[in-house]
Amino acid sequence: MLLAQDGHRVTVLERDPVAPPEPAVAWEEWDRRGIAQFHLPHFALPRFRDLLETELPAVSAALLAGGAEEYDLVDELPESVTGGRRDGDDRYVALAVRRPVLEAVVARSAETQSGVTVRRGVVVRGVLTDTPDRTGVPRVVGVATSDGEQVRADLVVDAGGRRSTMPALLDVSGGVAPAEEREDSGFVYFARFFRADGPFPALQATVNQAYSSVSILTLPSDRGTWSVTFAASARDKELRVLRDADRWDAVARCFPANAAWLDAEPVGDVRVMAGIEDRIRHYVAGGRPVVTGVLPVGDAWACTNPSVGRGMSMALTHAVVLRDVVRAADGEGPAELSRRWAEATAAVLEPWYRTTIGSDRHRLAEIDADRCGVPYAPADRGWTTSKALAAGSRRDPDVLRGMLDIASMQALPQEVLGRPGMVERVLAAGAGAPQYAVPGPDRRELLAAAGVTVPV
Ligand SMILES: Cc1cc2nc3c(=O)[nH]c(=O)nc-3n(C[C@H](O)[C@H](O)[C@H](O)COP(=O)(O)OP(=O)(O)OC[C@H]3O[C@@H](n4cnc5c(N)ncnc54)[C@H](O)[C@@H]3O)c2cc1C
Repeated sequence: MLLAQDGHRVTVLERDPVAPPEPAVAWEEWDRRGIAQFHLPHFALPRFRDLLETELPAVSAALLAGGAEEYDLVDELPESVTGGRRDGDDRYVALAVRRPVLEAVVARSAETQSGVTVRRGVVVRGVLTDTPDRTGVPRVVGVATSDGEQVRADLVVDAGGRRSTMPALLDVSGGVAPAEEREDSGFVYFARFFRADGPFPALQATVNQAYSSVSILTLPSDRGTWSVTFAASARDKELRVLRDADRWDAVARCFPANAAWLDAEPVGDVRVMAGIEDRIRHYVAGGRPVVTGVLPVGDAWACTNPSVGRGMSMALTHAVVLRDVVRAADGEGPAELSRRWAEATAAVLEPWYRTTIGSDRHRLAEIDADRCGVPYAPADRGWTTSKALAAGSRRDPDVLRGMLDIASMQALPQEVLGRPGMVERVLAAGAGAPQYAVPGPDRRELLAAAGVTVPV
Protein backbone atom coordinates (compact mmCIF):
# COMPACT_ATOMS: atom_id res chain seq x y z
CA MET A 1 0.00 0.00 0.00
CA LEU A 2 2.85 2.39 0.84
CA LEU A 3 4.59 1.75 -2.48
CA ALA A 4 1.34 2.00 -4.43
CA GLN A 5 0.61 5.35 -2.84
CA ASP A 6 3.92 6.51 -4.36
CA GLY A 7 2.71 5.50 -7.82
CA HIS A 8 4.30 2.04 -8.11
CA ARG A 9 2.31 -0.88 -9.48
CA VAL A 10 2.46 -3.65 -6.87
CA THR A 11 1.50 -7.30 -7.28
CA VAL A 12 1.19 -9.34 -4.08
CA LEU A 13 1.61 -13.09 -4.52
CA GLU A 14 0.15 -14.85 -1.49
CA ARG A 15 0.36 -18.59 -0.94
CA ASP A 16 -2.81 -18.92 1.16
CA PRO A 17 -5.85 -19.16 -1.10
CA VAL A 18 -8.64 -17.83 1.13
CA ALA A 19 -9.57 -14.16 0.89
CA PRO A 20 -10.04 -12.20 4.14
CA PRO A 21 -13.57 -12.42 5.56
CA GLU A 22 -15.40 -9.67 7.45
CA PRO A 23 -13.27 -8.72 10.48
CA ALA A 24 -16.12 -9.66 12.84
CA VAL A 25 -15.84 -13.34 11.86
CA ALA A 26 -12.14 -13.48 11.00
CA TRP A 27 -11.12 -15.26 14.21
CA GLU A 28 -13.62 -18.08 13.71
CA GLU A 29 -13.66 -18.39 9.92
CA TRP A 30 -10.25 -17.50 8.55
CA ASP A 31 -7.59 -20.17 8.40
CA ARG A 32 -4.10 -19.03 7.37
CA ARG A 33 -1.81 -22.02 7.12
CA GLY A 34 1.00 -19.74 5.91
CA ILE A 35 1.25 -18.22 9.38
CA ALA A 36 1.79 -20.67 12.24
CA GLN A 37 1.14 -17.96 14.85
CA PHE A 38 -2.11 -16.78 13.24
CA HIS A 39 -4.31 -17.79 16.18
CA LEU A 40 -1.74 -17.01 18.87
CA PRO A 41 -1.74 -13.85 20.99
CA HIS A 42 -0.69 -10.64 19.25
CA PHE A 43 -0.56 -7.10 20.54
CA ALA A 44 0.06 -4.02 18.40
CA LEU A 45 2.48 -1.79 20.28
CA PRO A 46 2.06 2.00 20.39
CA ARG A 47 4.70 2.34 17.66
CA PHE A 48 2.55 0.21 15.35
CA ARG A 49 -0.51 2.29 16.13
CA ASP A 50 1.34 5.59 15.58
CA LEU A 51 2.93 4.50 12.32
CA LEU A 52 -0.34 3.15 10.97
CA GLU A 53 -2.15 6.35 11.85
CA THR A 54 0.54 8.48 10.18
CA GLU A 55 1.22 6.40 7.10
CA LEU A 56 -2.06 4.63 6.42
CA PRO A 57 -4.76 6.62 8.23
CA ALA A 58 -7.62 4.94 6.36
CA VAL A 59 -6.40 1.51 7.49
CA SER A 60 -6.06 2.78 11.03
CA ALA A 61 -9.67 4.03 10.96
CA ALA A 62 -10.86 0.75 9.41
CA LEU A 63 -9.12 -1.16 12.19
CA LEU A 64 -10.98 0.74 14.89
CA ALA A 65 -14.24 0.32 12.96
CA GLY A 66 -13.39 -3.40 12.64
CA GLY A 67 -13.28 -3.88 16.40
CA ALA A 68 -9.72 -2.99 17.49
CA GLU A 69 -9.57 -1.07 20.72
CA GLU A 70 -7.16 1.63 21.74
CA TYR A 71 -5.50 0.47 24.95
CA ASP A 72 -3.74 3.07 27.05
CA LEU A 73 -0.81 1.44 28.84
CA VAL A 74 -0.63 4.25 31.43
CA ASP A 75 -4.33 4.83 32.13
CA GLU A 76 -4.91 1.12 32.70
CA LEU A 77 -2.34 0.89 35.50
CA PRO A 78 -3.09 1.91 39.09
CA GLU A 79 -2.51 5.63 39.76
CA SER A 80 -0.20 4.67 42.63
CA VAL A 81 2.17 3.32 39.96
CA THR A 82 1.70 5.95 37.22
CA GLY A 83 1.58 9.06 39.41
CA GLY A 84 -1.47 10.16 37.40
CA ARG A 85 -1.78 11.18 33.78
CA ARG A 86 0.85 13.46 32.26
CA ASP A 87 1.38 15.39 29.04
CA GLY A 88 2.84 13.10 26.41
CA ASP A 89 1.27 9.94 27.81
CA ASP A 90 -0.72 9.50 24.61
CA ARG A 91 2.42 7.96 23.10
CA TYR A 92 1.65 4.82 25.13
CA VAL A 93 -1.60 3.88 23.40
CA ALA A 94 -1.53 0.40 21.88
CA LEU A 95 -4.06 -1.42 19.69
CA ALA A 96 -5.82 -4.37 21.25
CA VAL A 97 -6.86 -6.73 18.47
CA ARG A 98 -6.54 -10.40 17.62
CA ARG A 99 -4.24 -11.20 14.73
CA PRO A 100 -6.89 -12.56 12.28
CA VAL A 101 -9.03 -9.46 12.85
CA LEU A 102 -6.12 -7.09 12.33
CA GLU A 103 -4.99 -8.92 9.25
CA ALA A 104 -8.49 -9.11 7.74
CA VAL A 105 -8.74 -5.32 7.96
CA VAL A 106 -5.27 -4.74 6.50
CA ALA A 107 -5.72 -7.30 3.72
CA ARG A 108 -9.15 -5.96 2.74
CA SER A 109 -7.70 -2.45 2.64
CA ALA A 110 -4.89 -3.62 0.36
CA GLU A 111 -7.39 -5.15 -2.03
CA THR A 112 -9.12 -1.81 -2.54
CA GLN A 113 -5.89 0.23 -2.78
CA SER A 114 -5.41 1.54 -6.29
CA GLY A 115 -2.14 0.23 -7.73
CA VAL A 116 -2.20 -3.01 -5.69
CA THR A 117 -3.21 -6.38 -7.16
CA VAL A 118 -3.47 -9.25 -4.68
CA ARG A 119 -3.29 -12.75 -6.12
CA ARG A 120 -4.07 -15.51 -3.63
CA GLY A 121 -3.26 -19.19 -3.86
CA VAL A 122 -0.04 -18.38 -5.76
CA VAL A 123 3.18 -19.86 -4.38
CA VAL A 124 6.55 -18.34 -5.25
CA ARG A 125 8.71 -21.32 -6.18
CA GLY A 126 11.73 -19.71 -7.84
CA VAL A 127 13.45 -16.48 -8.77
CA LEU A 128 14.31 -15.24 -12.25
CA THR A 129 17.80 -13.84 -12.57
CA ASP A 130 19.57 -11.75 -15.19
CA THR A 131 23.18 -12.20 -16.14
CA PRO A 132 25.40 -10.82 -13.37
CA ASP A 133 26.50 -7.18 -13.68
CA ARG A 134 30.17 -6.33 -14.37
CA THR A 135 30.99 -6.81 -10.68
CA GLY A 136 29.62 -10.36 -10.85
CA VAL A 137 26.53 -9.72 -8.69
CA PRO A 138 23.42 -11.43 -10.04
CA ARG A 139 20.20 -9.47 -10.38
CA VAL A 140 16.71 -10.79 -9.62
CA VAL A 141 14.21 -9.69 -12.26
CA GLY A 142 11.12 -11.58 -11.13
CA VAL A 143 9.77 -14.80 -9.67
CA ALA A 144 8.41 -18.11 -10.93
CA THR A 145 5.13 -19.33 -9.45
CA SER A 146 3.61 -22.71 -8.67
CA ASP A 147 1.54 -22.49 -11.90
CA GLY A 148 4.69 -22.21 -13.96
CA GLU A 149 4.09 -18.52 -14.58
CA GLN A 150 6.97 -16.02 -14.70
CA VAL A 151 6.19 -12.69 -13.06
CA ARG A 152 8.72 -10.00 -13.96
CA ALA A 153 9.33 -6.95 -11.78
CA ASP A 154 11.73 -4.02 -11.31
CA LEU A 155 11.93 -4.97 -7.63
CA VAL A 156 10.99 -8.16 -5.78
CA VAL A 157 10.12 -7.59 -2.12
CA ASP A 158 10.41 -10.73 -0.04
CA ALA A 159 7.62 -10.44 2.54
CA GLY A 160 7.44 -14.21 3.04
CA GLY A 161 7.70 -14.10 6.83
CA ARG A 162 9.86 -16.10 9.24
CA ARG A 163 9.76 -19.17 7.00
CA SER A 164 10.60 -17.32 3.80
CA THR A 165 12.60 -19.62 1.52
CA MET A 166 14.19 -16.81 -0.48
CA PRO A 167 17.81 -17.76 0.39
CA ALA A 168 17.22 -21.31 -0.88
CA LEU A 169 15.55 -20.02 -4.04
CA LEU A 170 18.47 -17.66 -4.68
CA ASP A 171 20.95 -20.43 -4.07
CA VAL A 172 19.28 -22.70 -6.61
CA SER A 173 18.96 -20.07 -9.31
CA GLY A 174 22.15 -18.06 -9.00
CA GLY A 175 24.39 -19.85 -6.53
CA VAL A 176 24.18 -16.94 -4.09
CA ALA A 177 22.41 -16.52 -0.78
CA PRO A 178 22.52 -14.00 2.05
CA ALA A 179 24.50 -14.93 5.15
CA GLU A 180 22.28 -15.83 8.09
CA GLU A 181 22.58 -15.79 11.86
CA ARG A 182 20.01 -18.10 13.43
CA GLU A 183 19.31 -19.93 16.68
CA ASP A 184 16.33 -21.34 18.57
CA SER A 185 15.11 -18.67 20.97
CA GLY A 186 14.63 -21.37 23.62
CA PHE A 187 11.18 -20.20 24.76
CA VAL A 188 7.89 -22.08 24.76
CA TYR A 189 4.50 -20.34 24.96
CA PHE A 190 1.32 -21.65 26.61
CA ALA A 191 -1.56 -19.31 25.76
CA ARG A 192 -5.27 -19.18 26.57
CA PHE A 193 -7.90 -16.79 25.25
CA PHE A 194 -10.85 -15.52 27.32
CA ARG A 195 -14.01 -13.56 26.67
CA ALA A 196 -16.28 -11.49 28.91
CA ASP A 197 -18.85 -8.72 28.64
CA GLY A 198 -17.99 -5.29 29.93
CA PRO A 199 -14.64 -3.54 30.31
CA PHE A 200 -11.31 -5.34 30.59
CA PRO A 201 -10.25 -6.30 34.12
CA ALA A 202 -8.00 -3.75 35.79
CA LEU A 203 -4.30 -4.07 35.00
CA GLN A 204 -2.28 -4.54 38.20
CA ALA A 205 1.09 -4.83 36.48
CA THR A 206 2.35 -4.09 32.97
CA VAL A 207 1.15 -6.42 30.22
CA ASN A 208 4.45 -8.33 30.22
CA GLN A 209 5.57 -9.41 33.71
CA ALA A 210 8.57 -11.47 34.74
CA TYR A 211 8.19 -13.99 37.58
CA SER A 212 10.24 -16.89 38.87
CA SER A 213 10.49 -19.54 36.07
CA VAL A 214 7.97 -17.85 33.75
CA SER A 215 6.91 -14.55 32.23
CA ILE A 216 3.23 -13.77 31.86
CA LEU A 217 1.78 -11.76 29.00
CA THR A 218 -1.71 -10.39 29.57
CA LEU A 219 -2.88 -9.00 26.24
CA PRO A 220 -6.28 -7.38 25.72
CA SER A 221 -7.88 -7.89 22.28
CA ASP A 222 -11.02 -6.94 20.39
CA ARG A 223 -14.68 -7.76 21.15
CA GLY A 224 -14.22 -8.38 24.86
CA THR A 225 -11.50 -10.98 24.35
CA TRP A 226 -8.00 -11.21 25.75
CA SER A 227 -5.21 -13.71 26.17
CA VAL A 228 -3.00 -14.79 29.05
CA THR A 229 0.26 -16.49 28.06
CA PHE A 230 3.04 -18.19 29.98
CA ALA A 231 6.48 -17.87 28.39
CA ALA A 232 8.72 -20.60 29.83
CA SER A 233 12.01 -22.23 28.97
CA ALA A 234 11.77 -25.02 26.41
CA ARG A 235 14.20 -26.91 28.70
CA ASP A 236 11.69 -26.82 31.55
CA LYS A 237 10.27 -30.35 31.27
CA GLU A 238 8.28 -30.01 34.48
CA LEU A 239 6.25 -27.09 33.18
CA ARG A 240 5.24 -28.91 30.01
CA VAL A 241 2.11 -29.90 31.95
CA LEU A 242 0.90 -26.35 31.19
CA ARG A 243 -0.48 -27.82 27.97
CA ASP A 244 -3.28 -29.19 30.09
CA ALA A 245 -6.05 -26.61 30.60
CA ASP A 246 -6.78 -27.57 34.23
CA ARG A 247 -3.12 -27.40 35.24
CA TRP A 248 -2.68 -24.19 33.27
CA ASP A 249 -5.62 -22.72 35.16
CA ALA A 250 -4.36 -23.88 38.57
CA VAL A 251 -0.95 -22.34 37.95
CA ALA A 252 -2.36 -19.08 36.54
CA ARG A 253 -4.40 -18.59 39.72
CA CYS A 254 -1.20 -18.42 41.80
CA PHE A 255 -0.37 -14.97 40.38
CA PRO A 256 -2.41 -12.38 42.30
CA ALA A 257 -1.89 -9.56 39.77
CA ASN A 258 -3.44 -11.74 37.14
CA ALA A 259 -6.36 -13.28 38.98
CA ALA A 260 -9.09 -10.99 37.61
CA TRP A 261 -8.15 -11.90 34.02
CA LEU A 262 -9.05 -15.55 34.63
CA ASP A 263 -12.63 -15.03 35.78
CA ALA A 264 -14.07 -15.15 32.29
CA GLU A 265 -15.20 -17.66 29.69
CA PRO A 266 -12.19 -19.51 28.22
CA VAL A 267 -12.12 -19.60 24.42
CA GLY A 268 -10.70 -22.91 23.28
CA ASP A 269 -7.88 -24.88 24.76
CA VAL A 270 -4.29 -24.05 25.67
CA ARG A 271 -2.39 -23.01 22.53
CA VAL A 272 1.28 -24.04 22.53
CA MET A 273 4.13 -22.79 20.37
CA ALA A 274 7.83 -23.68 20.60
CA GLY A 275 10.85 -23.92 18.33
CA ILE A 276 10.67 -20.20 17.52
CA GLU A 277 13.89 -19.02 15.92
CA ASP A 278 15.72 -15.73 16.13
CA ARG A 279 17.14 -15.12 12.69
CA ILE A 280 18.65 -12.27 10.67
CA ARG A 281 19.75 -12.19 7.02
CA HIS A 282 22.54 -10.09 5.51
CA TYR A 283 21.91 -9.19 1.87
CA VAL A 284 24.81 -6.74 1.74
CA ALA A 285 28.25 -7.67 3.08
CA GLY A 286 31.03 -5.10 3.40
CA GLY A 287 29.03 -2.62 1.30
CA ARG A 288 28.62 -5.14 -1.54
CA PRO A 289 25.20 -6.71 -2.27
CA VAL A 290 25.24 -10.49 -2.65
CA VAL A 291 22.32 -10.09 -5.06
CA THR A 292 20.31 -7.13 -6.35
CA GLY A 293 16.68 -6.66 -7.40
CA VAL A 294 15.35 -8.37 -4.27
CA LEU A 295 14.93 -6.90 -0.78
CA PRO A 296 13.47 -8.62 2.28
CA VAL A 297 11.10 -6.84 4.63
CA GLY A 298 9.71 -7.75 8.08
CA ASP A 299 10.22 -11.28 9.35
CA ALA A 300 11.76 -12.34 6.03
CA TRP A 301 14.68 -10.07 6.95
CA ALA A 302 14.81 -10.68 10.72
CA CYS A 303 12.52 -12.35 13.23
CA THR A 304 12.78 -12.70 16.98
CA ASN A 305 11.10 -14.56 19.77
CA PRO A 306 7.81 -12.74 20.38
CA SER A 307 7.71 -12.28 24.16
CA VAL A 308 8.13 -8.51 23.82
CA GLY A 309 5.66 -8.32 20.90
CA ARG A 310 7.81 -6.28 18.53
CA GLY A 311 7.45 -8.28 15.28
CA MET A 312 4.59 -6.40 13.65
CA SER A 313 5.93 -3.02 14.72
CA MET A 314 9.33 -3.91 13.28
CA ALA A 315 7.71 -5.16 10.05
CA LEU A 316 5.66 -1.97 9.63
CA THR A 317 8.68 0.20 10.43
CA HIS A 318 10.63 -1.78 7.86
CA ALA A 319 7.92 -1.29 5.24
CA VAL A 320 8.16 2.47 5.79
CA VAL A 321 11.96 2.29 5.56
CA LEU A 322 11.65 0.37 2.28
CA ARG A 323 9.20 2.92 0.87
CA ASP A 324 11.54 5.78 1.85
CA VAL A 325 14.61 4.08 0.37
CA VAL A 326 12.82 3.35 -2.91
CA ARG A 327 11.65 6.96 -2.98
CA ALA A 328 15.13 8.36 -2.31
CA ALA A 329 16.91 6.02 -4.74
CA ASP A 330 14.70 7.04 -7.65
CA GLY A 331 16.80 6.72 -10.81
CA GLU A 332 19.70 4.92 -9.08
CA GLY A 333 20.70 1.41 -10.13
CA PRO A 334 19.71 -1.78 -8.25
CA ALA A 335 23.07 -2.11 -6.47
CA GLU A 336 22.70 1.37 -5.01
CA LEU A 337 19.14 0.55 -3.94
CA SER A 338 20.39 -2.54 -2.09
CA ARG A 339 23.14 -0.55 -0.38
CA ARG A 340 20.72 2.18 0.73
CA TRP A 341 18.27 -0.44 1.98
CA ALA A 342 21.04 -2.17 3.98
CA GLU A 343 22.22 1.11 5.48
CA ALA A 344 18.73 2.20 6.52
CA THR A 345 17.86 -1.26 7.84
CA ALA A 346 21.06 -1.39 9.91
CA ALA A 347 20.42 2.09 11.30
CA VAL A 348 16.70 1.85 12.09
CA LEU A 349 15.84 -1.83 12.55
CA GLU A 350 18.93 -3.78 13.50
CA PRO A 351 19.38 -2.07 16.90
CA TRP A 352 15.90 -3.35 17.81
CA TYR A 353 16.80 -6.85 16.67
CA ARG A 354 20.04 -6.82 18.71
CA THR A 355 18.45 -5.41 21.85
CA THR A 356 15.60 -7.93 21.69
CA ILE A 357 18.01 -10.84 21.30
CA GLY A 358 20.28 -9.50 24.06
CA SER A 359 17.55 -9.13 26.67
CA ASP A 360 15.93 -12.43 25.65
CA ARG A 361 19.19 -14.30 26.19
CA HIS A 362 19.46 -12.88 29.70
CA ARG A 363 15.82 -13.51 30.50
CA LEU A 364 16.02 -17.12 29.34
CA ALA A 365 19.18 -17.65 31.39
CA GLU A 366 17.42 -16.15 34.42
CA ILE A 367 14.42 -18.43 33.91
CA ASP A 368 16.73 -21.44 33.59
CA ALA A 369 18.54 -20.40 36.78
CA ASP A 370 15.15 -20.23 38.58
CA ARG A 371 14.42 -23.72 37.31
CA CYS A 372 17.72 -25.02 38.68
CA GLY A 373 17.39 -23.09 41.96
CA VAL A 374 20.56 -21.05 41.46
CA PRO A 375 20.96 -17.26 41.45
CA TYR A 376 21.41 -15.42 38.17
CA ALA A 377 23.88 -12.60 38.55
CA PRO A 378 25.88 -12.05 35.35
CA ALA A 379 28.55 -9.37 35.38
CA ASP A 380 26.70 -7.28 32.83
CA ARG A 381 25.80 -3.71 33.66
CA GLY A 382 23.17 -3.71 30.93
CA TRP A 383 21.27 -6.53 32.62
CA THR A 384 21.58 -4.99 36.08
CA THR A 385 20.16 -1.74 34.71
CA SER A 386 17.32 -3.45 32.92
CA LYS A 387 16.36 -5.32 36.13
CA ALA A 388 16.43 -1.99 37.98
CA LEU A 389 14.27 -0.48 35.25
CA ALA A 390 11.65 -3.20 35.68
CA ALA A 391 11.63 -2.92 39.48
CA GLY A 392 11.93 0.86 39.51
CA SER A 393 9.01 1.24 37.10
CA ARG A 394 6.70 0.31 39.99
CA ARG A 395 8.26 2.87 42.32
CA ASP A 396 9.04 5.95 40.20
CA PRO A 397 6.63 7.29 37.54
CA ASP A 398 9.52 8.71 35.48
CA VAL A 399 11.22 5.35 35.43
CA LEU A 400 7.89 3.77 34.46
CA ARG A 401 7.70 6.05 31.44
CA GLY A 402 11.29 5.23 30.47
CA MET A 403 10.42 1.56 30.63
CA LEU A 404 7.23 2.14 28.61
CA ASP A 405 9.17 4.07 25.95
CA ILE A 406 11.20 0.90 25.37
CA ALA A 407 8.25 -1.51 25.70
CA SER A 408 6.20 0.61 23.27
CA MET A 409 9.12 0.65 20.80
CA GLN A 410 9.18 4.43 20.96
CA ALA A 411 12.86 4.60 22.06
CA LEU A 412 15.76 2.16 22.27
CA PRO A 413 17.16 1.30 25.73
CA GLN A 414 20.36 3.21 24.92
CA GLU A 415 18.27 6.31 24.06
CA VAL A 416 16.24 6.12 27.26
CA LEU A 417 19.26 5.44 29.46
CA GLY A 418 21.22 8.14 27.64
CA ARG A 419 18.85 10.83 28.94
CA PRO A 420 20.56 13.06 31.51
CA GLY A 421 20.42 11.53 34.99
CA MET A 422 18.31 8.58 33.86
CA VAL A 423 20.70 5.76 34.77
CA GLU A 424 21.14 7.15 38.31
CA ARG A 425 17.38 7.52 38.65
CA VAL A 426 16.75 3.97 37.45
CA LEU A 427 19.38 2.46 39.74
CA ALA A 428 18.05 4.44 42.72
CA ALA A 429 14.44 3.40 42.02
CA GLY A 430 15.40 -0.24 41.61
CA ALA A 431 17.76 -0.41 44.59
CA GLY A 432 16.99 -3.15 47.09
CA ALA A 433 14.05 -4.47 45.05
CA PRO A 434 13.30 -8.19 45.11
CA GLN A 435 14.35 -10.21 42.07
CA TYR A 436 10.82 -9.94 40.71
CA ALA A 437 8.91 -6.72 41.18
CA VAL A 438 5.40 -8.20 41.28
CA PRO A 439 4.55 -10.89 43.87
CA GLY A 440 4.16 -14.42 42.54
CA PRO A 441 4.83 -18.01 43.53
CA ASP A 442 8.36 -19.36 43.91
CA ARG A 443 9.45 -22.41 41.94
CA ARG A 444 8.27 -24.90 44.55
CA GLU A 445 4.82 -23.30 44.81
CA LEU A 446 4.56 -23.14 41.03
CA LEU A 447 5.28 -26.84 40.61
CA ALA A 448 2.92 -27.74 43.43
CA ALA A 449 0.12 -25.79 41.71
CA ALA A 450 0.97 -27.54 38.45
CA GLY A 451 0.56 -30.89 40.20
CA VAL A 452 4.19 -31.79 39.59
CA THR A 453 5.79 -33.92 42.29
CA VAL A 454 8.58 -31.94 43.90
CA PRO A 455 11.57 -33.95 45.13
CA VAL A 456 12.34 -33.17 48.79
C1 LIG B 1 3.79 -16.92 18.81
C2 LIG B 1 3.99 -15.56 18.20
C3 LIG B 1 3.40 -14.44 18.79
C4 LIG B 1 3.62 -13.17 18.25
N1 LIG B 1 3.08 -12.09 18.89
C5 LIG B 1 3.32 -10.85 18.41
C6 LIG B 1 2.80 -9.69 19.06
O1 LIG B 1 2.15 -9.78 20.11
N2 LIG B 1 3.05 -8.48 18.50
C7 LIG B 1 3.79 -8.34 17.37
O2 LIG B 1 3.98 -7.20 16.93
N3 LIG B 1 4.29 -9.41 16.74
C8 LIG B 1 4.09 -10.65 17.22
N4 LIG B 1 4.61 -11.74 16.57
C9 LIG B 1 5.41 -11.52 15.36
C10 LIG B 1 4.52 -11.33 14.12
O3 LIG B 1 3.65 -12.42 13.99
C11 LIG B 1 5.41 -11.22 12.90
O4 LIG B 1 6.48 -10.36 13.18
C12 LIG B 1 4.67 -10.70 11.68
O5 LIG B 1 3.68 -11.59 11.28
C13 LIG B 1 5.63 -10.46 10.52
O6 LIG B 1 4.92 -10.08 9.40
P1 LIG B 1 5.47 -10.41 7.94
O7 LIG B 1 4.51 -9.74 7.02
O8 LIG B 1 6.90 -10.11 7.85
O9 LIG B 1 5.34 -11.99 7.76
P2 LIG B 1 4.07 -12.95 7.92
O10 LIG B 1 2.99 -12.31 8.69
O11 LIG B 1 4.59 -14.26 8.38
O12 LIG B 1 3.54 -13.10 6.42
C14 LIG B 1 4.25 -13.85 5.46
C15 LIG B 1 3.29 -14.16 4.31
O13 LIG B 1 4.02 -14.71 3.21
C16 LIG B 1 3.30 -15.79 2.66
N5 LIG B 1 4.29 -16.65 1.99
C17 LIG B 1 5.35 -17.28 2.54
N6 LIG B 1 6.05 -17.95 1.60
C18 LIG B 1 5.42 -17.72 0.42
C19 LIG B 1 5.66 -18.13 -0.91
N7 LIG B 1 6.71 -18.92 -1.25
N8 LIG B 1 4.81 -17.72 -1.88
C20 LIG B 1 3.74 -16.92 -1.59
N9 LIG B 1 3.47 -16.50 -0.33
C21 LIG B 1 4.29 -16.89 0.65
C22 LIG B 1 2.64 -16.44 3.88
O14 LIG B 1 1.52 -17.23 3.50
C23 LIG B 1 2.24 -15.20 4.68
O15 LIG B 1 0.98 -14.71 4.31
C24 LIG B 1 4.41 -13.02 17.08
C25 LIG B 1 5.01 -14.13 16.50
C26 LIG B 1 4.82 -15.39 17.04
C27 LIG B 1 5.52 -16.56 16.42
